[in-house]
Amino acid sequence: MGMKVALSLIMFALGAVMGSFLACQAWRLHYKDTGKGSLGKRSVCLSCKKQLKWFDNIPIISWLMLRGRCRYCKKKIGLMEILSEFLMGLAFFGLTWMLYPAGTAVLGYVILGLVFLLVFVLGFLAIYDGKWGELPSFALIIALMLAVAICGLKIWLVGFSWPLIGDLLGGAAILGGTYLVLYLVSHSEWVGDGDWILGVIIGLVLGRAWLALIVLCLSNCLGLVVMYPAARKKKQKKIYFGPFLVVAFVITLMFAEFFNGLIF
Ligand SMILES: [Zn+2]
Repeated sequence: MGMKVALSLIMFALGAVMGSFLACQAWRLHYKDTGKGSLGKRSVCLSCKKQLKWFDNIPIISWLMLRGRCRYCKKKIGLMEILSEFLMGLAFFGLTWMLYPAGTAVLGYVILGLVFLLVFVLGFLAIYDGKWGELPSFALIIALMLAVAICGLKIWLVGFSWPLIGDLLGGAAILGGTYLVLYLVSHSEWVGDGDWILGVIIGLVLGRAWLALIVLCLSNCLGLVVMYPAARKKKQKKIYFGPFLVVAFVITLMFAEFFNGLIF
């Protein structure tokens, strides 16, 4: 028990550092892709470009100490930064807490490691999509490769069977298919072209087709609750589903046992 608590807390800290790193990388990529030039090697304030001291760079804690403002120009540090640090920390904490120990097989731990790596890449996609409404394709490709690797190892671990293949592909078909239909029907007005690939990735990793329905329901509920007030103000038709899909995926993964217990 003590071990589990300690490990989960360490993973929270690691997740927060990863979230901070990813938000930073997202800004760097965005600056590069939009031709705004480089941000330099060290972290800077995006408003006054002053280089940050190391103690202003500690995830979550620095934000709280500075009350979300730059030490020098007092401009607000975006909500995205603190959200990505906190949510990534929470995701790493929750997944460690709920999935540890991953059984006795070494392969189980390898799969768990890949799942964390996948959550890391999905975190980047969620941040980028939430901020700029785009899913960078290189990150989508990495995530897809990780998902395929996780599926392959799962089949290796439990042995090949058609019901298992059906569950893996079924999840991908339900999530990917829904967003592909939305994309085609709306001529990319409601959802972007990367969302259905994200759906396929998440569906593959869930391991049970019906969990895909839970992710679908959860992400749409989250999306409506969070985006509806904003969408009404800005009259924006397109909703960036990426962040909600990723959050719903992590929650569903954490409580997969519980959800499975509901019907089996
Ligand atoms: Zn500043």
